[in-house]
Amino acid sequence: NTDNSEDADDNFNVVLRVRPPNAQERNRKDQFVVDFPGDGQVSVNNQGTVRSFQFNVVLEPDAAQEDVFESSGMKKLIDAAILGYTCTAFAFGQTGSGKTHTMTGPPAQFHTEGVTPDPNMYGIIQRSFKHLFQQLKRQSAPKYVRASYMEIYNEQVIDLLNPNQRRYLSVRWSKNKGFYVENLFTVECETIDDLMAVLEEGLRNRQTGSHGLNEFSSRSHSVLTVTIDSETQPEPEDENLYVTKRGKISFVDLAGSEKVKDSTAPGGPGMLESNSINKSLLVLGNCISHLGDSKRRLGHIPYRDSKLTKLLADSLGGNGITLMIACITPSSSNVTETLNTLRYASRAKKI
Ligand code: ADP
Ligand code: MG
Repeated sequence: NTDNSEDADDNFNVVLRVRPPNAQERNRKDQFVVDFPGDGQVSVNNQGTVRSFQFNVVLEPDAAQEDVFESSGMKKLIDAAILGYTCTAFAFGQTGSGKTHTMTGPPAQFHTEGVTPDPNMYGIIQRSFKHLFQQLKRQSAPKYVRASYMEIYNEQVIDLLNPNQRRYLSVRWSKNKGFYVENLFTVECETIDDLMAVLEEGLRNRQTGSHGLNEFSSRSHSVLTVTIDSETQPEPEDENLYVTKRGKISFVDLAGSEKVKDSTAPGGPGMLESNSINKSLLVLGNCISHLGDSKRRLGHIPYRDSKLTKLLADSLGGNGITLMIACITPSSSNVTETLNTLRYASRAKKI
């Protein structure tokens, strides 16, 4: 299939990944309710009622980590970030659906002290680092790579690279930078090893910090951001005139979506109750609903209603490319959450 014209200028891409059944689901003899009729279709059988959804890319349970990276369109985001755009890749889905596995590799390898990870199991993030440095090596103009890594829990921002400073950081806005996190530690990265070290450090702090509980990681969003600055010389006559162009790519491992209700749906809980659930995730859903609706996308998009959406506003709003990797499980015991995730993902697909 060589017809990419439809996707050529798409700035919001949605990919679906279905993880294989786990041991518990097999032992319980859960039914597996997700089917793949072909042509990007996914159908879910909820006690006899079958619902079908259509995606551009569906990664079936046997997809390897490499397949996910190669077919998700991730390279396009990195290439755009090198050119100065703001890009975001985020994993969405209920706890246990494979978000972390997809972004950073299996937690049993990458989040466990003393275990040396198998590079075949690298997630989207490590593979992106590799692609980034491969691309940068080919370019003659100097580029400066920096990285930061934070976590948002209960609308509070924590620096994963500076955990001893147990202070919550503020999200501010400036004309030049847009929304940014004040005093966030950033590390200059000259090589891929420097970037890998940032990732490892953040994962370690996420794991061993006072919040290193399962409960915490399923309710927090982690955001690893790589900025790429290029100096360009637009005026060959003026050797002193350098312009810095900044591209950015953020990798977001979202909180589990299981507590998120659609506040706009009939019978939904409305904003009030949702506030206490997970504000950033809820507002992200609202922004996606607005952006995915041809009439509402021209109106006010509620980016300012949460920390996460403030920080992702550039990228969601279209100055760059966003990739949403929706993760689901195959099991009958999760069918309600699976349908919720598929509905979110289908709505986002319209953006
Ligand atoms: P989440 O981050 O969404 O809560 P995890 O990524 O922690 O979910 O996945 C839950 C468990 O399932 C982990 O042990 C993970 O390694 C495993 N898992 C997830 N996706 C896959 C996959 N595609 N193949 C094999 N195991 C997977
Ligand atoms: Mg996780």
